[in-house]
Amino acid sequence: MKKILIIEDEKSIAELERDYLEINGFQTDIELTGDAGLRKALNEDFDLILLDVMLPHMDGFEICKRVRSSKEIPIIMVTAKKEEIDKIRGLGLGADDYLVKPFSPNEMVARVKAHLSRYERLSSKQHESQELYIRGLFIDRTSRRVFVNNQEVTFTTKEFDVLTFLAMNPNQVFSKEQLFERIWGLNSTGDISTVTVHIRKIREKIEHDPSNPEYIDTLWGAGYRFR
Ligand code: CA
Repeated sequence: MKKILIIEDEKSIAELERDYLEINGFQTDIELTGDAGLRKALNEDFDLILLDVMLPHMDGFEICKRVRSSKEIPIIMVTAKKEEIDKIRGLGLGADDYLVKPFSPNEMVARVKAHLSRYERLSSKQHESQELYIRGLFIDRTSRRVFVNNQEVTFTTKEFDVLTFLAMNPNQVFSKEQLFERIWGLNSTGDISTVTVHIRKIREKIEHDPSNPEYIDTLWGAGYRFR
C-alpha cells in the first residue's frame, strides 16, 4: 500500500486530505509542524509528500529543499496564496506540483495518483543504461549526478530529468509540448514556458557558451534536439 506523508498545520485540512486519500486506498501519516514533518520525511519511507507552505517552525520551501537533496519521491506543495505559486516554480526547490487552497479533494487525489504513477514509470526505466558520457558531459543516472569537464554541477529534479531524457534520445527532435508531457505529465498545471526556462538553465550549466550551444540545439518552430 502506498504511503503518503501529510505535513499540514491546519488540522481540519490535514484530516480532509487523510480521509480522501484513505478512501482511495492510501495509507497516510500526518505531521502538524514543519520540523517534525521534515524529520519524519527524512527518517521514514514514503511514496509521496503533500506539503503545506506556511508551517510553524520551518516552512514548506525549506522542507522541500532538504527532502529533495536526499529523496526523489514526488512532492506536492499546498499553498493558501496564489502569489506563492511563482515562488514554488521559480526557486528550483524540486517540487513536482502544487495545489492552491481551497482545492477540490478529488483533484488532490487525482494529482497524487498521477505523480505516483509517473514516478513509478521513471524508476522502472532506470534499468536502462545508467551512465552517459558525451564529450565532457557525464551523467550518472543512479546517483543523479552530473559532471561537466570533471566538475560536478547541481541540477534540480526536473532539469536533470529533461537533460537525461534528451541525452538518452540523441538526434531526435522533441517539441516543447512533448517534453512537457514526458517530464511534467499531462496532469501538471504548469505551462509550456516551463520547458523553455528549464532548457535555458540546463544550457547555463552544461554549455561552454549557452548562446551558441553544442549539446542542445533549438530548431525554431520544431523543438529541441540533443547532439
Ligand atoms: Ca499552513
